[in-house]
Amino acid sequence: MDLTKLSLKQTIKALEDKQFSKQELNRAYLSKIDTLNSKLNVFLEVEKNTLGIPAAIKDIIITQNIKTTAGSKILSNFLPPYNATVIGRLLEKGCSVIGKTNHDEFAMGSSGENSAYGVTKNPWNLKKVPGGSSSGSAAAVAADMCVFSLGTDTGGSIRQPASLCGVVGLKTSYGRVSRYGAIALSSSLDQIGPFTKTVEDARTILEWISGEDGLDANCHGKPFQPQKSFKNLSGIKIGVPKEYFGKGLDKGVEKVIREAIKKLEELGGEIVEVSLPHTEYAIAAYYIILPSEVSSNLAKFDGIRFGFDRSKFGAEAKRRIMLGTFTLSAGYFDDYFIKAAKVRTLIKQDFEKAFEKVDVIVGPVSPTVAWDIGEKFDDPLAMYLSDAYTIPANLAGICGLSLPCGFVEGLPVGLQILGKYWGEDTILSVGEIYEQATDWHKEKPKL
Ligand code: GLN
Repeated sequence: MDLTKLSLKQTIKALEDKQFSKQELNRAYLSKIDTLNSKLNVFLEVEKNTLGIPAAIKDIIITQNIKTTAGSKILSNFLPPYNATVIGRLLEKGCSVIGKTNHDEFAMGSSGENSAYGVTKNPWNLKKVPGGSSSGSAAAVAADMCVFSLGTDTGGSIRQPASLCGVVGLKTSYGRVSRYGAIALSSSLDQIGPFTKTVEDARTILEWISGEDGLDANCHGKPFQPQKSFKNLSGIKIGVPKEYFGKGLDKGVEKVIREAIKKLEELGGEIVEVSLPHTEYAIAAYYIILPSEVSSNLAKFDGIRFGFDRSKFGAEAKRRIMLGTFTLSAGYFDDYFIKAAKVRTLIKQDFEKAFEKVDVIVGPVSPTVAWDIGEKFDDPLAMYLSDAYTIPANLAGICGLSLPCGFVEGLPVGLQILGKYWGEDTILSVGEIYEQATDWHKEKPKL
């Protein structure tokens, strides 16, 4: 039996039944990492003496005594003295950090190419990007180099690489999971969430890591309690936003998504067309709000307290620091930041209105499948536009799931299921019902 093919649920069950020991489990994963890491560039650090359920952690989430770089040369010598809240919670549940995963520097990017440590390769095709920014965390699950992983999603960085690598990725509602110990990119948008092999596993991880801890003032509420409020889709209203099927959506991806929607209908769901009229302004608003917060959050990297000096920032970090410093400057603040904040409210209201009519909203995660490494690297605008369907959820603070729903020319496509604020139980339930009726999540890359 290849232990690395098991889901979290199957792993826990097999350990309870003593089918293998935690030592054998870790050995199996470490040998997988040994064979594949040089090919895929997934892990920046590997922990060789772990004995828990192996979890891979995006290197922007700090881990006690394990180097944490945020994908940047500026932190290439940073050894955190404490654990992020999510890490403490996973350790309590019997997990261990098997390694830290590569990602775009400070989580800025959609392809992994902004990492100071080289691009992670897509396990389905080594010439393709894995998506970003949580590139290594998605690829690690796709290539069975861990049981599950954690990433962060500020504008799609969990859902988009999950889609491009063919795994499940959950963006949690804003405030659901403590960000204490996650190096901040954009504090009004950032959320931590899991990458898993099944939707059911994402539910379990959410249960483990959610709930307030008093260390992140925006995180509130009790840990997530799975309700599984429904077992089939009859009576469930599924919204399809026409704005997510317009210009820029690849025809092959559209076909796969339309088939997935048809499947949801066959399973009893009622398909309802909805409109999210301000979708087209989301990227513009995001690229004012995010750089503004970046210019403030990254000010602490001054080379005095930790890390190296600011000359070590990569090109994208510098670009966003400059943009954000401009949009926050006296004279431009009202025209840019305040206006973007107002647009953000309109986007939030679009979702609120749509969710008066429907239980979930479905559509593509990414307008295309994984593209060639290098293809968009010199065109930041083309890269930014690839996040058109993920960014609105971050601006609104709602939750969203990406799950495998098909392939275009051998590359995975993810279905996005968006839910109301705090609506994780609903999107996970819809995702589970779809997953149980299909086999897409069982497909594995040939490595
Ligand atoms: N790709 C988006 C960006 O570059 C989203 C990043 C993220 O979610 N961390 O900002």
